[in-house]
Amino acid sequence: MSSTLNSLASRAKAAVLHPYSDPLTEVEPLIMERGEGIRVWDSEGRSYIDAMAGLWCASLGFSEGRLAKAAYDQMVSLPYYHGFTGKSHVPMIELAERLLAMAPVPMGKVFFANSGSEANDTAIKLIWYYNNARGKPGKKKIIGRHRGYHGITLATTSVTGQVINHTSFDVPLNDRYLHVQTPDFYHAGLPGESEEDYATRCAQELENAILTAGPDTVAAMFMEPILGGGGLIVPPRTYYEKMQAVLRKYDVLVVADEVICGFGRTGNHWGSTTMGIQPDLLTCAKALTSGYLPLSALMISQEVVDGIASEAHRIGVLGHGFTYSGHPVPAAVALETLRIYDEIDIISHVRTVGSHLFEQLNARVGSHPLVGQVRGAGLLAGFEIVADKDSHKNFEPSRKVGPTMVGLCQKHGLIIRACPNDAIVMSPPLVITESEVDQVVDKFVAALNDLEATTAVKG
Ligand code: PMP
Repeated sequence: MSSTLNSLASRAKAAVLHPYSDPLTEVEPLIMERGEGIRVWDSEGRSYIDAMAGLWCASLGFSEGRLAKAAYDQMVSLPYYHGFTGKSHVPMIELAERLLAMAPVPMGKVFFANSGSEANDTAIKLIWYYNNARGKPGKKKIIGRHRGYHGITLATTSVTGQVINHTSFDVPLNDRYLHVQTPDFYHAGLPGESEEDYATRCAQELENAILTAGPDTVAAMFMEPILGGGGLIVPPRTYYEKMQAVLRKYDVLVVADEVICGFGRTGNHWGSTTMGIQPDLLTCAKALTSGYLPLSALMISQEVVDGIASEAHRIGVLGHGFTYSGHPVPAAVALETLRIYDEIDIISHVRTVGSHLFEQLNARVGSHPLVGQVRGAGLLAGFEIVADKDSHKNFEPSRKVGPTMVGLCQKHGLIIRACPNDAIVMSPPLVITESEVDQVVDKFVAALNDLEATTAVKG
């Protein structure tokens, strides 16, 4: 190992509080230096296929020069402006129009923020504001799902349903947050139960939760169309139809969190289209700029916009907005990103390459004795590593099978991610080709064969 890496890795460990790491037993971080196409290189010159597109975001890969140029041009013409107190600017206006034109259901207006968390946090605040406006001030509770992920601000962590995001952070904040079950048919389906019957059970549980809380206290439910960080869980057939019927019955708003699923990831522009969700509010981020600059957006139905507008008018101003809401540079990069998606017909590409990916995963990975289920949609894919294929039993978490697999893949030059239940997930740049998919699957198979020889799964 070179002294450069030593010093960079130790400087990183000494100076940076890295997200999602154990500061006391932190492994030497890879110091990433450059990217090209779907690959990144570390400071030692080793290359990796980044099958996570960073954090599910670099959809156009790591070297799209047009995005750099769009940022530069905007920096030169108007590097900063905002939308407060009677101001606006062209990139923000054009991007809002573009998003409204592509929304999965008719939407009224767009609010811009910088991250998925901020977009979701804004959704929560505006839902409360809306319910105050329409004379339902008691209707404030937000429903999330166990293992759902919606961000890490105080309110969004409270909606997030992952234990590590709650433990010791003193969240959920208060009794405004409820969680219902993960729609995980693979583990929670009863023997002999159909997917449809399991979906009915999930909807019944939701209805019971709303009735127990009191329908007059429940405001909204947040849903990732396919749960990402929770382990790439694809809800069972008829789930969304049944869940939304219950939500509509009790006047509970539907919020689609498209932070991962948006912009072609599942083979349609929106995961809501793939999975059959008709949201009242929709949040997106990540692939909106291919991850090149921070930007998120919240789309809001006309009915909810009207309520918000009347309340803001009564008060005199909408007292919400970030300094960088709709920042012109990320907005210009987002417009260029969306232009490129159209030009290369990203949806058809994802469908074609995605089918190839699933064929390969099913044939070459799904048949492996350690692999329990291959799942996903479009170019969002994963498989669960299990101790027993028949009973779907996972290994004990203390064996750290998922993290071991991540390390083995890394040795083979492949970056992937491990989620709860040893779900190994991938969300590669959408521009990945079929032959690059084959390279990814080769590396998976090699890493799985290595895994078989480790104490993580033996004995
Ligand atoms: N929602 C979902 C579905 C996410 O996956 C994430 C982040 N991975 C977020 C919200 C939060 O986004 P951010 O990290 O940009 O705040």
